Amino acid sequence: MKKIITTINYPIYFGNKSYEKLKIYIDKNKISKLFILCDINTYKFCLKQLQNKVTFLGKSQVISIYSGEKVKNIESSLYIWRSLYAYKADRNSLLINLGGGVINDIGGFSASLFKRGVDFIHIPTTLLSMVDASIGGKTGIDLDNIKNEIGVFNFPKIIIIDFLYLQTLCFRELISGQAEILKHGLIYDKNLWLKLKKKHVWNTEIFASITIKQNIVNKDPYEIKGLRKILNFGHSIGHGIESYFLIENFTFLHGEAIAIGMICEAWISYLFNRFPLSQYEDIKNTILDSYSFPIIKPIVIQKIINHIQHDKKNIKGDIRFSLLKEIGNCNFDHKISIENIKNALILISKYKF
Ligand code: NAD
Repeated sequence: MKKIITTINYPIYFGNKSYEKLKIYIDKNKISKLFILCDINTYKFCLKQLQNKVTFLGKSQVISIYSGEKVKNIESSLYIWRSLYAYKADRNSLLINLGGGVINDIGGFSASLFKRGVDFIHIPTTLLSMVDASIGGKTGIDLDNIKNEIGVFNFPKIIIIDFLYLQTLCFRELISGQAEILKHGLIYDKNLWLKLKKKHVWNTEIFASITIKQNIVNKDPYEIKGLRKILNFGHSIGHGIESYFLIENFTFLHGEAIAIGMICEAWISYLFNRFPLSQYEDIKNTILDSYSFPIIKPIVIQKIINHIQHDKKNIKGDIRFSLLKEIGNCNFDHKISIENIKNALILISKYKF
């Protein structure tokens, strides 16, 4: 496996040698102070591992927040900003985001705004953040449980992928992360999809998945040309589900919500994008075999739709979806009616997970 993926904005390093690159970066850029942002779990499971490997990080100032989507909000950002201020961070400081997608998103966002921007790097510690959240420069927080409503595009200086951190991740979180890898196969690489159907993900699939995301981001870094929107396949309905359950205080992991969203949006692809029915069945069966979800009761469907109506991809009030053409090929900006979304959710509400 290669040890580096280079992009126009940042390098992605793999394995132990990455930390040497980090040291070189810190020296070359005359970084004045090092901060490590953790959540309670990465503080417990990952911080010591990192500091044992990279002894000079033992002197860093650690900022720790609670874990989970519920803390991806402005209160946590305020806490991070106040901590940076209290510990006298200056503009040459570096924030190291050691955690899953929540820490990557909120750490990147908070660093981007502190003193008009300090540098940050990501060390993703969940499968989902390795293959998706840390890659591509989207940073942000939720607004009153509305997913990623506040945020900026800004790029980390370095991303370090170290599979060591996955050792302490529970199976449910691993499978949640696998949903984004399945998505990368569905939208861009049929072979990756076929491989993942046969076995659980490991190093080569993680590498392939990061490469796919980065290739798409390279072609449309700020989602202006539109191609980057294909990464949102499964996310229009998935985010609606995730947001609704967040308000209800029910834990629905990000990847789990996206997995359901992919079944619904594959069905809509069949209806409106000539996506073959047999491929829809394949996606549905593969996902239902691997995931167990809470039942989506018909009574909550309208509430989920209310969230989808606020989706960032909508244009002039029209709901826009990225849809599959065939497995490995996706296109974007399909105008979809609320009635069709409702029907897809009704279909899902009949499945036994
Ligand atoms: P997460 O960050 O909440 O991590 C999941 C759980 O695992 C948390 O409880 C965390 O404390 C724990 N954890 C993290 N690393 C661990 C480790 N090594 N060992 C044990 N426990 C560990 O969730 P996630 O699934 O990594 O990320 C989901 C978030 O990512 C969502 O907010 C989503 O919106 C965001 N996201 C962002 C992008 C983007 O492009 N910016 C893309 C996809 C997802």
